[in-house]
Amino acid sequence: MVMEDVFEKLRSLQDILSEKINLGRDIQEIPKLLITQEELLARLKKSFIEKNQDYERTKLAEGDFRNQLAQAEMDREKAEKNMDSISTQREYEALDKEIRDAAEKEQQFRKELQREERALSDLNEQIKQNESLIDQQEKDLEERRAGIEAEVAEKKSQVAKLTEEEQVLNQGLDPEVLFKFERIIRNKGGQGIVAIKGGVCMGCHMILPVDFANRIHNQEKIEFCPYCSRILFYEESEQGDEEFLNNEDAGSLADLDDMDDDEDEEEEEEEEKVNIDYEE
Ligand SMILES: [Zn+2]
Repeated sequence: MVMEDVFEKLRSLQDILSEKINLGRDIQEIPKLLITQEELLARLKKSFIEKNQDYERTKLAEGDFRNQLAQAEMDREKAEKNMDSISTQREYEALDKEIRDAAEKEQQFRKELQREERALSDLNEQIKQNESLIDQQEKDLEERRAGIEAEVAEKKSQVAKLTEEEQVLNQGLDPEVLFKFERIIRNKGGQGIVAIKGGVCMGCHMILPVDFANRIHNQEKIEFCPYCSRILFYEESEQGDEEFLNNEDAGSLADLDDMDDDEDEEEEEEEEKVNIDYEE
């Protein structure tokens, strides 16, 4: 295959791979949008259970007070009835005290009972509210989940279509080059093939060694930038780079440039990571 055709294929492949990588990322990320809502729903359900337990406890307490109140009422009524059959002052005083004590208890239990009844009615209200919130959230979540599932399915079918196109383009290309190329695109923001202009890599802007740059000019095989790992192809610079390519000093200039350019050092570090990936 003529090198220009290979580069053309790689450029088309680059578009497809970048799009696939972005779609893959979306497919992973989109379902995470539901997490907050799922957590809210879980909290509502937990609170619903707790409130129901509260309600049961309060209901029991209410029943207790109701029984105690009934008992105190009976005690008072019985003592009142006994009032008809007493004959001494002492009996009268004892009975009178019994009636007052019972009445006091009655009042106390009636108050407690009212308090529990209010608590029950509050809890009942809260439980109802909670229940309707849960229903609402479940409905919302279901709708959103359906929407997200449709979106993910659509993206997956796009990926499948791109994979078919990718397989057609892959034909006749070295699998090892393809493997590296895909990694570079993933690690270098979608850019895996760049021009070399005036002896400079347009991906990382590093000046490349002269004999290496010349080799790319001749385009005999696929070459990777030694700094950023991207595939390089020759492109005429506006000023013309014949002069540069013949300049004996270019190599040493490039070396100087290496030393004082922080950004490029970062690029080199990244490149190391890329290489480590290959070895896995
Ligand atoms: Zn480079």
